[in-house]
Amino acid sequence: MYSKYVWPIVLLMVSISACEDPEDLAPQVEIPIKFPNVDPELRPYFQRFEDEAALRGIPVDLTQAGISGVIEEIDEEHIAGQCSFPRNRPNEVTIDRSFWVRGNDFFREFIVFHELGHCYLFRSHLEDLLPSGACISIMRSGNGPCLDNYHSGTRAFYIDELFDGAIGFTASN
Ligand SMILES: [Zn+2]
Repeated sequence: MYSKYVWPIVLLMVSISACEDPEDLAPQVEIPIKFPNVDPELRPYFQRFEDEAALRGIPVDLTQAGISGVIEEIDEEHIAGQCSFPRNRPNEVTIDRSFWVRGNDFFREFIVFHELGHCYLFRSHLEDLLPSGACISIMRSGNGPCLDNYHSGTRAFYIDELFDGAIGFTASN
């Protein structure tokens, strides 16, 4: 006698619970920004620097190192980027806005990696030439005799040199 009325109610309850939005059940976790003190446009290149180091067995954490990065007009002519070593805080990469706007992906990577070569790897400039006349390193000053030759075919060579040339940062020591 009762079963005729009980079953439709039970089925209705099942269908209501199935309609609950699964997102409401997921915990609300805020994902922290990876490089909070770095201009958002520079962040992908900071990430690549860490990734390329990891590929070579070198753990790099630019956030932990406190390296910051900004894009702004550098008043000095022909300066695409610089690394400043403020006395009271970690090092800061500055990329010149005019160069950044004009530069393609390879140029942007080149200039960010060069400045991180100073700011994180503590490398100095190296002006040596390959037999072709191309620069042996992306750590060239830009005022020396060698020619820049950074592109998809030479990228791995130059990134190997960048990390190999950084004393104390190789995987083996
Ligand atoms: Zn430099």
